[in-house]
Parts: sequence; structure tokens; C-alpha cells
Amino acid sequence: MHKNLEKFKYSQNSINTYKSCPLKFKYKYIEKINWKHDDLESRQYYESLKTGTEFHLLCERYFSNIPLGINSNTNLNFIRWIEKVKKLVPIIHENIYLPEYEVRYNLNGNTIIAKYDLLIIKENSIEIWDWKTENKKIDYKNVESRIQTIVYMFLAKEVVTKLFNLSIEFKNIKMKYYQPEFDEEEITILYSEEKYNQSRNKIISYIDTINYTKYDENQKKYKYELVKNKKHCTYCEFNKLCNNQDIDYSILEEEVYGC
Ligand code: SF4
Repeated sequence: MHKNLEKFKYSQNSINTYKSCPLKFKYKYIEKINWKHDDLESRQYYESLKTGTEFHLLCERYFSNIPLGINSNTNLNFIRWIEKVKKLVPIIHENIYLPEYEVRYNLNGNTIIAKYDLLIIKENSIEIWDWKTENKKIDYKNVESRIQTIVYMFLAKEVVTKLFNLSIEFKNIKMKYYQPEFDEEEITILYSEEKYNQSRNKIISYIDTINYTKYDENQKKYKYELVKNKKHCTYCEFNKLCNNQDIDYSILEEEVYGC
């Protein structure tokens, strides 16, 4: 294993990065190259798209039961969207609402983290909510197999049930993606013991592959050679570095939207 991975925290983002291109993973997480110094304006645009930060903040305040802080600078779309969220997910006194909730899990000595947009703990169920602000419509098939779904549901079962001392059946753990730009209703992914076992195996396999890739010549213990995924270059922020090609931020959005 590379020494920079010894205390690494695996997340859906880092696993996705490796899946899209192992060399990109090396640049981002082993060498920690910060492309963010490049072209500040484009970066800010890209990042705000990516995170939907302002809308996530409104959701966080709503579920924390504090004033939303809407003012004349607030994006009108976000005001419209938060109204939809309020209607779709009214706050019910008996439930526990945990916005922007981070959990960690130690799997065979590797730390995995997940930060949920919202967790709702009910008497007999757990709901994981994720707000999608992207302008490309998602569907069930698209999100069911995402690394995010795999990691988030797995950690809900492994960590959240234990933290809250809950005995919850697999079928009562649900992941809900909501895209306020398009949907009146959320997309709900259901869980099962079979999915849980598959998820566990997949996560172990991803981490093993990441841990035992040869990132540099001095690395003695490795199983996999470092490969480049040339098909991904158009969507990659390191395109300039690898191919001396200018970065097209509008194309970069495609990556953010899970293409
Ligand atoms: S530009 Fe292409 S080869 Fe280079 S890191 Fe990005 S995806 Fe990989």
C-alpha cells in the first residue's frame, strides 16, 4: 500500500474517482494536486453546481428547525425548491432529523465515511435523503447502482442502527433521491439482505484495488498496475496536465452529473 493511503478515509467520492480513472485518483488523493488554483471564476461556478451549496444550506436549516435566512440575494429557484421539500418532507415531532450528518465505519482496518444530506430516524425505519441539484434528470436505474447508494445504505445499516440502538429490518432502510427541479416525488431505493451482502463485497473489492495499486516506482507491495482511463479525459480536471488540453467546465458538469 502507498504510504499516503495509510490513514486514508474512503468515501463515495474517492471510490468514484478511482473508478473513473486510477491516475486521476493518484493526482487527487496521493499527490494531492490542487487544480483549484486554476481559473477562479470557472472553478466557483463548477463547485457551486457540484455541491448546490446554497440549497443544501437551506435544507439543513429547515431540518434543524432554525430560520432559513432567505433574503433578496437568495436564488429564486432555491426558494421554490425548499418549498417543495417542506411539502414533501414535513417535520413530524416523533421523528429524529439529522441534516448534514457524517458517519464513519472501520471495515477491516479501513475507514469509510459518508455524509448524509439528511437522515430521518423513525420508530421502525431509517430514511436517507439526498438532494440532487443537477440539471440532468436522474432515474431509478441511474441511482440504484451508484457508489453513493452502495456506501450510504451500507453505513446506515452498519453504523446508524448501532448508534441509535435500533433493530431495523433491511427492508426498512430506504435511500431517497430528490431532484426538486424535476420531481414532485422522490426516487426511493429499497434495501435487502442480499443487497447488503453485495454492497459489502463491492466496497471491500474497491478498497482492495485502491490500496494495492502501484502509484509509484518505489512502492513494493502492489497487485494492480496504475492505468489511465483515456475515455474519461474530456470530463477530467487534469486534462491540461495529462494531455495539454484546455479544461471545458461545461463538459466537466457531465462528470458531476454522473455520466
Ligand atoms: S486527464 Fe485522462 S488520463 Fe489524465 S487523470 Fe484525467 S482521466 Fe485520467
